[in-house]
Formats: sequence, C-alpha cells, structure tokens
Amino acid sequence: MKKTDLKRYLKPQAIYKTRRTTINGAFAAAVLPNEAYDDARVMEALHLLDQDPDVDLSCVYCDLPAGTWDHLVPVIKKGQPHGPGHRIGNLVPCCKDCNSRKGGKDWSDFLKLKQPDPEAFQEMQERIQRYQSRYAEALHPQATQAEREKLQEFFAIRDAVLVLMKHADRLADDIRDIRAPQDTTAGDGPSEAREHQAWQEMLRQLALPSPEGSVAPPDLSLEPFSNFFKARSAEQ
Ligand SMILES: [Zn+2]
Repeated sequence: MKKTDLKRYLKPQAIYKTRRTTINGAFAAAVLPNEAYDDARVMEALHLLDQDPDVDLSCVYCDLPAGTWDHLVPVIKKGQPHGPGHRIGNLVPCCKDCNSRKGGKDWSDFLKLKQPDPEAFQEMQERIQRYQSRYAEALHPQATQAEREKLQEFFAIRDAVLVLMKHADRLADDIRDIRAPQDTTAGDGPSEAREHQAWQEMLRQLALPSPEGSVAPPDLSLEPFSNFFKARSAEQ
C-alpha cells in the first residue's frame, strides 16, 4: 500500500456511484424465480455433480473446499434480472476465490481458465451441463397481465430509488459546500465521544430519529412512487 492510497479514502463518498449496482442487484434478486429447499432433491442433484452430499462439498471449478454457492448463470445482467434465478440447477458449490474471480464471466469460459487440461475440462463441463439441464431448464416467462403490472410498478420503484439517490448526492455536495469552516485551533483534538455527541445534538435539532434509536420507521407515503410511475407510463 502507498501513502497516496489515502486520497481515495479522504474523498467524499457518492451514494449513487458506490451503491447503484447493489441496489439494482437487490431489486433483480427479489423478483427472480427461486425454489424451496428439498433435501432429497439436493442429494440427488449433488450426486449428479459427482459430489458426496454427506461430506464437505468441493468447488466445481477447482476442486478445493467450497465455501459458497455460485450462480452458474448470473442473476443480473446490465442491471436487469437474468437467467434461471435462485434454483438448484443454477447454484453450484464453489470456493470463495473462484466465486469472486468468476464475476459475470460465462461459467464455461471460467472453467477453461481453471482447467487448462482439455480432458479434465471436458469431463467437468459435461458434468455441469447435465446438472444444469436437469435442474434449471430455461425459463420462458409467460407473465400474466397482473404480474406484468406489478413488475412495472416494482421497477418504477427501483428507478425512483436511484433518482432519489442522485438527488441525495447533490444535497450532500451542497451540504459540504455550505458547511461552516471547522475550528482547527481547539486544543483537545478529536474525541469519538464528543463527535458523537455533536452529531446527536445536530440530529436532535433537525428532529430526525437517531439511526441508533429504536424508533418506528417514518410513515412513508407511497404517493411519490405512484406519481413517478404514472409520469413514466405517460412518457412511454
Ligand atoms: Zn474454486
């Protein structure tokens, strides 16, 4: 690490830029198909992957001990829900290292990187393909009108959240611009207790609930969302 790495930490943190992908992913993940856990079905599926369901599972890409489950087909692509979702044939045991390195890559391309030996690659590829086609057959969504309407409103809420995040970023810029200059002559230096108290006092003056207090969530009206939704529908 270099001392100049600190620059990145001293910069203001933008909400939209750092959290957009997370928000998109959370919304996509919430409406993707899923299935309930069924022990017998999971046992059978793991046998198809040549794994012993009664011992610790191993990574389908590198054979090291698995620490997580990887979605073969990513559940989000270009910010939209994608693939068969959270279903057995789309989830495979995977080590944490492979999971983070694979990212949005095609699973087969990634497997080739991990298994350069053509024979080993082919064997493992066929195994995963069998598993995938047996348990996560492609979806051909035939959404009803009611489902489509709900989905439209659902994604309008996502877009409204993203718009609100951008707006909050602009406000944060303004707040930093108008913030009173800090008194750097004070003698005692910063103390966590004093800083905490200062924030608490400011929030109290704003009549905002303390993030640490166990207050009821504000009574959010859904009005802005339905207005946003109507405006968007009118645009289309
Ligand atoms: Zn691995």
